[in-house]
Amino acid sequence: MKIIITGAAGFIGSAVCRYVLNNTGASIVCLDKMTYAAHPDTLRGIVDGDRAVFEHVDICNRAELDRVFATHEPDAVMHLAAESHVDRSIEGAGVFIETNVVGTYHLLEATRKYWSALPDWRQGAFRFHHVSTDEVYGSLGSTGLFTEETAYAPNSPYSASKASADHLVRAWHHTHGLPVVVSNCSNNYGPFHFPEKLIPLIIINALEGKPLPVYGNGENVRDWLFVEDHASALWRIVTAGKVGEKYNVGGNAERSNLQVVHAICDALDEMLPVAKPRRELIAYVTDRPGHDLRYAIDASKIRRELGWEPQVTFETGLRRTIEWFLGNQAWWQPLRAGVYDGQRLGLGAAP
Ligand code: NAD
Repeated sequence: MKIIITGAAGFIGSAVCRYVLNNTGASIVCLDKMTYAAHPDTLRGIVDGDRAVFEHVDICNRAELDRVFATHEPDAVMHLAAESHVDRSIEGAGVFIETNVVGTYHLLEATRKYWSALPDWRQGAFRFHHVSTDEVYGSLGSTGLFTEETAYAPNSPYSASKASADHLVRAWHHTHGLPVVVSNCSNNYGPFHFPEKLIPLIIINALEGKPLPVYGNGENVRDWLFVEDHASALWRIVTAGKVGEKYNVGGNAERSNLQVVHAICDALDEMLPVAKPRRELIAYVTDRPGHDLRYAIDASKIRRELGWEPQVTFETGLRRTIEWFLGNQAWWQPLRAGVYDGQRLGLGAAP
């Protein structure tokens, strides 16, 4: 089996690449534009082997996508490439619409062209797996869970762009018969998480004794899933999911932002004691506009139908994440200092 993984050099995409290489016999095509959110080190050890190749491609470039499909003749696509940071989507939504909506359209069309020319036996087995977020469902009150039937109500430019992509994927199945599966997952955390996101930002600021910014009163709640658990769920969905279906994926680990920040401070105080408890570094900052109050996932469908459950508790996953950040300062320091860009590392722009 050969799979094109888009967004392969990003946080979750690279975890999926490692999962596939370590746990399955499949080979992979790691496709990525290498935006600010990607780093070549993320793929080191992945594309060095003989079961993985790298394609430096923008999913908005249709001709390049056609070339990649013709060259590699995949059995599946796992689509993770996206602009993914909500705060950036508030500052400037254009690139989110471009990549998440228009890019997904180009990828669907390139896939459809390739898929419709396959012999019948390969067409039936082919899968297009679109990887999405629980943020498409909007915000919950203090009770309730998102199910696969929850109506879409995206509130940020990011979640609206992902919801649009979900709808395009659904339409390409219903209109063109493309064999798709869609998954909507809660917040991930783990190794290679870009330092602008909450958990890595707090770990690094706490290590450096800098203020720990918490939006509003810190009461916004997210469900957290260790990235390796997400990777195993995605593999289960692409290989065993039912065509045309969607699956919610979650960690059953609801925490308020303040609880997350406290947990990081307490773990670091235990691992690397300092004079003052790190909780004293917490600084409440003006809330994000339109900040959703609570996300929580009902993941019973994937558990019941595909036999998947998360293996890593929040406490264990958080400790593993902190240890990873302690041991990999050479990865995050240049990103943090803002000195990294793809050009400087000699990658150039994606065609
Ligand atoms: P990320 O920002 O770490 O990685 C995204 C990757 O996509 C980067 O490597 C980037 O270079 C690449 N990319 C961006 N634009 C591209 C383009 N035009 N062409 C090709 N590649 C492009 O994101 P992530 O956190 O790894 O998220 C991956 C996917 O999972 C996204 O689709 C996101 O919406 C979804 N998701 C993320 C989370 C989460 O908590 N991070 C939760 C649920 C779903």
